[in-house]
This record gives sequence, structure tokens and C-alpha cells, in this order.
Amino acid sequence: MREVLLLKNGEIVLKGLNRPTFESILVGNIKRRLESLGASTLTRAQSAMFIEPQNDDYDIDEALSRLQKIFGLAAVSRAAVVEKDMQIIKETAASYLHETLEGVSSFKVDAKRSDKKFAFTSPQICTDVGAYLLDEFSNLHVDVHNPEVIISVEIRDFGAYIHGNAMPGAGGMPVGSNGRAAVLISGGIDSPVAAYMLAKRGVTINAIHFESPPYTSERARLKVMELLKIVSEYSGRVVCHVVPFTRIQEEIRKNCPEELFTVIMRRFMMKVACEIAKKRGCQALITGESIGQVASQTIEAISCTEEASSLPVFRPLIGMDKEEIIHIARKIGTFETSIQPYEDCCTVFTPRHPRTKPELKFLLAAESAFDFAPLLEEAVANAELVDIKPIF
Ligand code: ATP
Ligand code: MG
Repeated sequence: MREVLLLKNGEIVLKGLNRPTFESILVGNIKRRLESLGASTLTRAQSAMFIEPQNDDYDIDEALSRLQKIFGLAAVSRAAVVEKDMQIIKETAASYLHETLEGVSSFKVDAKRSDKKFAFTSPQICTDVGAYLLDEFSNLHVDVHNPEVIISVEIRDFGAYIHGNAMPGAGGMPVGSNGRAAVLISGGIDSPVAAYMLAKRGVTINAIHFESPPYTSERARLKVMELLKIVSEYSGRVVCHVVPFTRIQEEIRKNCPEELFTVIMRRFMMKVACEIAKKRGCQALITGESIGQVASQTIEAISCTEEASSLPVFRPLIGMDKEEIIHIARKIGTFETSIQPYEDCCTVFTPRHPRTKPELKFLLAAESAFDFAPLLEEAVANAELVDIKPIF
């Protein structure tokens, strides 16, 4: 039997004149992610798209799971395509969806007829197919308000499409439709989630990771790359800049008051990140900060950190509880990697009593005790580039 994948567009259907631009970015992303599975054709309809495999051994399940990670799609489903003949439609609904129908007790049929030449109206299709299924499956009853499964029959130009409940798509906007930003990525739980959330809004993601060898290990860097690989399944390719940060941290420790260490370090991270981000055409930074989570994430500390950035800083987790962040980390698959215990450059020189309400004037005074400018330049110049491609 012929099968197709049915994709429902998400938020882009609300776009006006720009809609074709958003759609063509989405189509490009879909084609790129499915390319390695073999030949398939993509057809656009009004607010939906169809993908039809061109060979028998096409891995439809794998295609579905990839499609579920593509931002811009509200729902995805696999559907049988048959001739526009009522008897064939009824029989196919029963055979194609028999496993689903045997496992539930309530259903309803939903029909759409975009080919108005088809002899039956939508209500007639619902009644006919519904009656047939009630005859075939003694476990079923019709529930039009709250059915466990909705059997959809769509009569389109080139055939009738039959499918069960659609699976949720990733939502959001197609990556590439909303500019470019650089995520400051650590090996923790939060920053990969922050990257995912901005990618979901269509932002192309670059990454910047600070490391402090020998205090941080090669394993810690690999962990960050593993996290980015998982993020890239949603965001597409990510270019990561790995910045050597040891010298700067050592000089801060030597020259600045201990209780200001963390905020000064974070300010220098921002400065270096802005330089790299701008060179790469990024319009903003992204961090995984959340108000009050740690000493460096009080409003005062965040304000002082922000002051060092010449780009807007997006903090999509700012008002979220750790539990909520973990929930997303589990959903996208980064959690298990994030909790592996490797050191981060932020934690190697943690002061015993960090100042939770730092004042900018004291930070600026402390920073002027040493000429950090050449070190910042050196860190930018020595950043190493790692290209992260999605696993598939
Ligand atoms: P995460 O779980 O993302 O590590 P966190 O709760 O541990 O966050 P911090 O260590 O204070 O918080 O870091 C706050 C933010 O600073 C991180 O979310 C991340 O965006 C950025 N950051 C921290 N460490 C690094 C690093 N080594 N390289 C790049 N960015 C970092
Ligand atoms: Mg961290």
C-alpha cells in the first residue's frame, strides 16, 4: 500500500506576505534532514505538506522521528493513500488502522473533501466509514466529543488519505527564519535547554564554550560537544567556538578580590563572547541563566554581567524553576548527558563567599587593577572551531 507522511504547518500559517519565505526555509530544513534516508518527493498544499517515499525500503518510522524534531511543524502523521472509492476507503481504514482500532473503545471519523467532485459529502463519508468500522470492530463505539482516536479521511486531488491520530510536531518557527545568536554553552543542564528554546523560535544557533585546561579536562569538552550534537538534531548544524580561558581566570584570581571573582569572570566571558559572536554574524547572545538560581544569577549580578555585553542577551529560562528546565532537558534528550559529573570552568575557582549583590563601580575598579585587554584579545584569537553536525 502507498504511504505518505502528512505534515501540518505550525505558526507560519499565521504569517502574511512573508509566508512563502518561511515556508521555503521550512522545506529546505525538511529536505536536508531527510536526505540521507533516500529519495522522496515533497508536495505543498495549503497549510500542509506531503512526503512520499520513492522506494519500498524507505524507513518511514525514522523519517517520522526526524520530522518530529523540525521546528515549524504542528503535527505529523503517516497516512495510507488509496483510490477515491468509498468501498476501498472503508476497507483500508479498517485494515490500515486495525491495530489502533483494536486498542481503543471510542472513535470518530473526521472527513475533509478538498476535491468537491467526489460524490460523497464530508458528513456522508463520516457516517459511511463510521458505520463500517462499527460493524468490523465490536469493541468500538462512537464518541464525537472525546474520542480516543480520530480517523481522518481526506479526499484530495490525487487520492484519499487515511490516518489515525496525528503525532505532535516540534512547534515553533523554522530554524533560519529569525536571525542568528550565539549560545554560551556549559556542560550543565540549563544552557542546552536555552539553545533549544531559541532554535525553536527560528534562530540559527552558534555556540561558544569556555574551557580552562588543565583545570577542565578533555572529557568535559567532549561532554559539551555531545550536548550540542543532541541540540543539533533540532537546530541543525552548530558551529562551536572553544575559548581558552585559563589565563584570564588565573589573572582575575591574582588581581581581583575573591568575592568578586565570579561576576568579573562572567563579565569577561561576555566580552570575549561578543567579539566572537559579532565576527560570526550573530545578533545576540543566549545564556541558561535563571533568576536566583545561584549567587551569580541575582538581579544585581545579572545586571553587572549584562553591562559587559555589547549585544542583547537572551535568557529564555529566566523565570523557570529548575524542575521545569529539567522537564524540557529530559524531553529533548540532553538531561542524561548534562548530569555526567565533569568540571566546568565556572566552578574551578568558585569563591567561598561570592558577593550576591555586586556593584558595578567596585567591579570596574577591581578590573582596572590589571590590563586584561591583551588577554581578552588573545582568547578571541585562539578560539578553536568545532563543527557539530546532526547525528543523522
Ligand atoms: P548550566 O546548567 O547551563 O551550566 P548553571 O546553572 O550551571 O547553568 P552558571 O554556571 O552560573 O549556571 O552559568 C550560567 C550560564 O553561563 C550558563 O547557563 C551558560 O549559558 C553560561 N556558562 C557557564 N559556564 C560556561 C562555559 N564554560 N562556557 C560557556 N558558557 C558558560
Ligand atoms: Mg554551569
